[in-house]
Formats: sequence, structure tokens, C-alpha cells
Amino acid sequence: MQKESRVCQNCRNSFAIEPEDFLFYEKIDVPPPTWCPGCRNMRRMLWREEKTLYRDICKLCGKKIVTIHAPGGPFTVICRECYNSDKWDPLSYGRAYDFKRPFFAQYRELMEAVPRPALTGANLVRSDFTHACLNVKDCYYVFWSYFSENAENCYALLLSKNAYDCYVTDNSDHVYGSLHCNRLYKVRNGFFSDDCMNSSFIFDCVGCSDCFGCINLRKQKYRLWNEQFSKEEYYERLKYWDLGSYARLEEAKNKFRSLYLSTPHRFAHVVSSQDVTGDIIRDTKDCKTCFSALDGVEHCRYVYFGGLNLKDAWDTSIGGDTSNLMYETCAVTGHASRCFFSAGGTNCRDTYYSDWAANSSYVFGCISIKNKQYCILNKQYTKQEYEELLPKIKKQMEDIPYIDKKGRVYKFGEFFPPELSAYAYNEAFAFPWYPKTKEEVVGEGWQWRDPSERSYEISLKPENLPDHVRDVDDSITREVVGCAHKGICNEQCTTAFRISQAELEFYRKMNIALPRLCPNCRNAERLRWRNAYTLWRRKCMCNKAGHVHGDNPCAAEFETTFSPERREIIYCADCYRAEFL
Ligand SMILES: [Zn+2]
Ligand SMILES: [Zn+2]
Ligand SMILES: [Zn+2]
Ligand SMILES: [Zn+2]
Repeated sequence: MQKESRVCQNCRNSFAIEPEDFLFYEKIDVPPPTWCPGCRNMRRMLWREEKTLYRDICKLCGKKIVTIHAPGGPFTVICRECYNSDKWDPLSYGRAYDFKRPFFAQYRELMEAVPRPALTGANLVRSDFTHACLNVKDCYYVFWSYFSENAENCYALLLSKNAYDCYVTDNSDHVYGSLHCNRLYKVRNGFFSDDCMNSSFIFDCVGCSDCFGCINLRKQKYRLWNEQFSKEEYYERLKYWDLGSYARLEEAKNKFRSLYLSTPHRFAHVVSSQDVTGDIIRDTKDCKTCFSALDGVEHCRYVYFGGLNLKDAWDTSIGGDTSNLMYETCAVTGHASRCFFSAGGTNCRDTYYSDWAANSSYVFGCISIKNKQYCILNKQYTKQEYEELLPKIKKQMEDIPYIDKKGRVYKFGEFFPPELSAYAYNEAFAFPWYPKTKEEVVGEGWQWRDPSERSYEISLKPENLPDHVRDVDDSITREVVGCAHKGICNEQCTTAFRISQAELEFYRKMNIALPRLCPNCRNAERLRWRNAYTLWRRKCMCNKAGHVHGDNPCAAEFETTFSPERREIIYCADCYRAEFL
């Protein structure tokens, strides 16, 4: 099969379908995609809520709940206890397939009828304000995290504790504001760094301790702004960089940014991996166009947040934990196999177009089903009936496709249409990765949710906070602090925030100035340190003498997430190694 170029149904840009893509589609018996890889990921990530929490009432038991679903919507949202109980039967909402109407229209009606969990998660201790967490304790506003404790405003923690404002951080303790880090101890503002301790403002550092404002270091000690000092001199100079002071913290942040821009960077963050393209890749092989693919991802394409033995998977967003043969899935994990066009599932096999399915197989268009086989639109069939119906439905989806408000056509082989998602674009996982304004989203025919009318009485303006954390009194925990962005950014600004007692103690212990931004704006600021999920073909920018390229500038090419108009200096792996390692 030859490589083919197609025009994306959504963004109208052309994209390539590689011979090995065709082989995979053939193997799993699906037609080739009509959307480009980026639009496909955006569409999947629109099917999962990111981190907006609401208060509501369980539609089954009437208990007060915290939920990811905006109140007043068309869905039947029930509390975790009810959801996991036998008080209701998902098959009681089952319906026969109507061969006269598009599948996705029927699916949306089922979505509104079948109960959905207010929040997901299991084994939670004092962690009511968390979603999609497993085995967490004393966590608040923590999402998609596992085996972690004492954390606030964090996203994707694994085996970490005493973590505040962290994003994708593993095996760490006493960490503040980290992004894509592993095994940190007592680190403030670590980015893409592993095995570091007692350090602040580090980027792409490994095995370092007692470093401040450093980039591209390996196994170093007592470095300040990358410069080597004796232990005594390091600590003497460090006195100036007192991050307990907000003014000094801002000064350090700005100096770090300039150092970041004047220092060459690796074209991609790739560790112990072979034959890969993408970014943020560790212990992975034969993976192309994969982003955040960690620990045993093999023979995969277009994976975004995959890990722990994910094999033979194309178009997987948030997936892994021993899964294979996945295509167009979002948050389908846990020993999954042959799951297609599905969202949120665990331990499932041979599923199509399903959401929140658990321990089920041979299901098509089902919602919230558990321990079931041979179901279509939540209706039970025999094995024989299911096998007869399935090809007829695939054919019917070809003949009577769903057409959205903008004329995009959805036949068998397309993931769910964005306009049918249960979540607004700006509340979904897609939003931070593919930021769009309200006008753009509405123009696409998709949902946007304006923040509900703010009734916060701001009792303390951010500019009136004491400069130094040591001058902050316990009474701060009773204040409603205004966010310095005042809601005018496009970052889901909540306009105000509170500081909890545990958080205040953490800031004091770590000597970090109190934030002036709300958690959403802080998160957006941190995410600006990572690149978007798009690859660009570029050349190494190195012209240093003494490298393998001799007196000529390096001619090495690579695929990188640094777009051509970016200001960073980008090196190939060899030049990076020659210069820094
Ligand atoms: Zn596209
Ligand atoms: Zn804000
Ligand atoms: Zn070079
Ligand atoms: Zn080079």
C-alpha cells in the first residue's frame, strides 16, 4: 500500500496516511480516517471532562454531590455509591436499533437516559474533590492521579506526596509547580527533570541536587544559573534568591525564562527509547507521532498520554495499563483489547462506540454497562443475534450517516461527533491542548460554557497580600483572594481563590510566596513550558566547532514540537550530547 494524502474533514489541511497505517486499519477492519491526527485527538479529548467541578444532587438518592457535569443539563447524573450499586440496571434503558435513523442521534438519546457517574475514582480517603483518581488520600482538586497523598491542584500524579500545583509528576515528594518530572524531592518549579533534590527552577536536569535556575545539567551540585560554585559560595549567593518573597520569585522566574531562551534545547524529550517520533517519551519503542508515551509503549501511532504496556494501538488518548489493539479511544484502560471508538472503559474487549463500560465485551453503542456481553444500545442479544446485527449496523452507518451542524459526515469509522459530547469544549481535556476562543468553538458548532455568574466577594486583592510568606497570618485561610487575571484571560479563570490551611503550611515549609493567580491560571502558566502536540520537520541549529559536523553547521534533521517561529535554539541529539552531557 502506498502513502496517501487526504484532506481533513475538520480543519481542511492535508494529512498523510502511511502504508503501516493502512495495514493497521486492515488488521482491525476499519476504514481509514477522514480527520487528521491532531483533529482526531482533539475530538477524542472532547469526550472527557478535564477539571471543572460542580455541586449538584444525586438523581437517584438525592444526596449532595460534587460532579463533573454542569447542573441543569439533560443527563442523569448519580453519585459514586449509587453508580456502583445494584439499585439500577443499565439494561433497563436498552432500546432496539432503529435502522431508519443515524446511529449517533440514537446514541445521544441513550446518553441522556442512562445514569452517568458524578465523578469516577476508587479507594479515596478524605478526597471528595477529586476525579478519576485511584488510591489517593487527603487530596483536593486532584485529577487522574494514582497512589498519591497530601496534594492540591494537581494533575496526573503517580506515587507522589506533598505535591502542590504539579502536572504529570511521578515518585516525588515535597514538590511545587513541577511539570513532567520523575523522582523529585524538595523541588520548586522543576520542568522535564528527573532524580533531582533541593533544587528550584530546573529544566531538563537529571541527577542534580542543590541547583537553582539551571538548564541541561547532569549529576551536578551547587550550580546557580548554570554556573558552578563552592558549597559555601552557593549558599551565600542563594540567600538573595529567597522564593518566599513574591517579588524575588517573579525576578527568578524572569531570569529563568531568559536563560531558557538563550540555552539550546534537545529537539524532543526522549529517554531510553528506540525508533520513536514525538515528545515526552520514555522506555518505549517503535512509536511514531506519540506524546507522553511512558514505560512500555510499543508499536503505537498517534498516542497521547499512554503508558504501562500499551501495544499495537493507534489513536489512543489516555490509555494503557496492559492494553492492545486499541483505535480511537479516550480513557479506555486497564487490560483492554480491541476497543474501538470508545471513551472511558476498563477491562473491556471487542467494544465499539461505548462509554463508561466495565468488564464487558462484544458491545456496541452501550453506556455505563458492567459485566455484560453482546449488547447493542444497552439491549441484550444472544451471541448469534449480535453477530448478525453488527455488520448490518456498520452498513447502515454508511448508508445513513450522521451529519453535524457544519456538514461534517460521520460514518462507521469516525469517533463520536464533538457536538454530541456531554462536556463543553472549554471544560474538556481538549481545551488546554487545542486552545480556542469562545467564538471559534461556537463557530465550529460545538458547546462552550460561560463560567457561572461569580458571586465571590473578594475580601483580599492579590496586590495586598504580604510580599513574604513568613509575614502571612493564619487568618489568610478565611480570605477570598482575587486572581490577578480578573477573569480576562482565556484560561478558565475563576477570578478568586482560597488558601487552605494545609496549603499555607506547605508554602511556609517550602518557603514559597503565596500565589497571586487562581489554580486554573497557575496551571495554564505552567503548561506554557510544554509544546503543543504538533510535529515540525526542522534542522539542527548548531554551528559549534568541535562537533561531528566539523566547521560546517550541523545538517541533522528531526521532527520536533518546536514550531519554526519559536525563539528557542533547537539541537539534534548528537549536538545536545556533545554540548551538555
Ligand atoms: Zn484536521
Ligand atoms: Zn485566574
Ligand atoms: Zn553541533
Ligand atoms: Zn546537530
